Amino acid sequence: MKSDVLIIGAGPAGLTAGIFTCRAGLSSVCIEKLAVGGQASLSHEIANYPGFEAISGFDLMDRIAKQAKSNGLRIAYGTVKSLEKSKTGFIVKTLDETFNSRKVIIASGCKTRKLGLKDEERLTGRGISYCASCDGAFFKDKVVAVVGGGNTAIGDVEYLSRLAKKIYLINRTEKFRAGEFALKKIKKLKNLEILTNAQVKELHGKDKLEAVSVNIDGTKTKINLDGLFIAIGYEPDTSFIKFDVDTNPQGYIIVDDNMRTSVKNLYACGDIINKDFRQIVVACADGAKAGNSCIGEK
Ligand SMILES: Cc1cc2nc3c(=O)[nH]c(=O)nc-3n(C[C@H](O)[C@H](O)[C@H](O)COP(=O)(O)OP(=O)(O)OC[C@H]3O[C@@H](n4cnc5c(N)ncnc54)[C@H](O)[C@@H]3O)c2cc1C
Repeated sequence: MKSDVLIIGAGPAGLTAGIFTCRAGLSSVCIEKLAVGGQASLSHEIANYPGFEAISGFDLMDRIAKQAKSNGLRIAYGTVKSLEKSKTGFIVKTLDETFNSRKVIIASGCKTRKLGLKDEERLTGRGISYCASCDGAFFKDKVVAVVGGGNTAIGDVEYLSRLAKKIYLINRTEKFRAGEFALKKIKKLKNLEILTNAQVKELHGKDKLEAVSVNIDGTKTKINLDGLFIAIGYEPDTSFIKFDVDTNPQGYIIVDDNMRTSVKNLYACGDIINKDFRQIVVACADGAKAGNSCIGEK
């Protein structure tokens, strides 16, 4: 299949990029490995996307996808296995298909690291969250736990301390990876209990999360709670790119203000890029910029 623009990933960033490229008359194809909508579709309620006081992630992404398709964005399902350079642009391969395009926008997001526990996926969005600033408000006056020991986990504790009745911070080791200043600040919180040398071993709950079993210093303890925020990091996956492109040490793609990568006619947007704030509205804005850059450059 041939197109002017090929977009990898149909989350908020990729779909928004497609709205812009299609409206400018560029033939555009978006390849998606799972479901159109990306990670945002997982959130049962989004209350921080402008224009909607509250909307389910699924409904918001459905609207954005419909808008992109009505503007002409073609969706192709498949997992991108390789992105290579060609004489005229790029060749993208999935298991079943080969795509040729002059320009490519990488909008493949990044994965939150999982605990890898049984029932983790089933209870995601039903008490388990990977995003405190997205979902924290649903746990007002409730009991929650944050898993992790880095700056994200500490930031989540601080954020949730203003909402939740009680917070447990569960860290695998005695030592925290987070900065001393941030740690000092949260240690003053009255509604926080810190558990070190502690590992979540089991998740309990039928329709929603009700408790977790934690191994603390070798002793198993069951803690009743309403929410579990897992903040053990993100993983960008750029292994499908078969040539050099600049990334930061963690593997996030480095872009300029207009979402250009270090490779001509290759753009990146959304959670996959090197930035501090990963939210839908930001991903959409990145996508708009990437789309606009495609339009503006020969
Ligand atoms: C549970 C949860 C709740 C959240 N709640 C909120 C919220 O309330 N408000 C908010 O603003 N943000 C929220 N976020 C964050 C928000 O979802 C992300 O910042 C946003 O989705 C990033 O958009 P993106 O398009 O960059 O990436 P993604 O949404 O991750 O989309 C990337 C897409 O690329 C696809 N893809 C990846 N690799 C390949 C490949 N090799 N081939 C083909 N396709 C591929 C993926 O399947 C995915 O569909 C939440 C995140 C989670 C996980």
